[in-house]
Amino acid sequence: MSLLHRASFFVSAARLDQLPPPGAPEVCFVGRSNAGKSSAINVLCNQKRLAFSSKTPGRTRLINLFGLPDPLDPDGQLGFLVDLPGYGYASVAHREKEAWADILGGYLRDRASLAGIVLLLDIRRGVTDLDRRLSGFIAPTGRPVLALLTKADKLPYGQRIRAVQAVRKELADIGQLNAIPFSSTDRIGLPEATLAVENWISPQVVP
Ligand code: GDP
Repeated sequence: MSLLHRASFFVSAARLDQLPPPGAPEVCFVGRSNAGKSSAINVLCNQKRLAFSSKTPGRTRLINLFGLPDPLDPDGQLGFLVDLPGYGYASVAHREKEAWADILGGYLRDRASLAGIVLLLDIRRGVTDLDRRLSGFIAPTGRPVLALLTKADKLPYGQRIRAVQAVRKELADIGQLNAIPFSSTDRIGLPEATLAVENWISPQVVP
């Protein structure tokens, strides 16, 4: 069983100063609203409603932390999955959009316990202007990035490969970038994504 399957809700924060002090390794999930972020978290954790869709009012402007309990220490966490607010809602006022940029930029810049970043991109939309802006926050962190090109079930194989190549090229500023087709419904890319996230939380030493 993947350690991710043991994930459970830990805490929500509306502001960065409400986050618990940095501790165990964190893997954060970022992407435009509707890119499939909550579906990806749920399938990685093998749970139906751990993360809530951006269509669910209330929960989504918060930073939600999910704990991965340490089997050897009932009160300890091996690591955390961090669901960051989605960006790019058409209906949201400019000022509020900038507040999200502050939260995402601040988290990425300052969070000492950040081990890796999962970036969700709708495979049919590729890298949008807002994603490019986000990658401007990500690149200086030097943290490894896994771009999941979501809803890959909607494209035939050849187009998936071309989409991956285009994303790798467009996000070349990010030093350690991997990009793979992903589908929550068809479980495309699930084993690779699971391994990458597990390895950031709890690095495996391969002899
Ligand atoms: P979020 O706003 O980024 O959390 O996105 P959601 O996970 O709520 O997904 C947005 C919409 O895309 C929902 O209607 C999902 O059912 C749909 N969706 C998410 N992942 C997939 C996928 O892998 N394949 C398909 N076909 N639809 C998906």
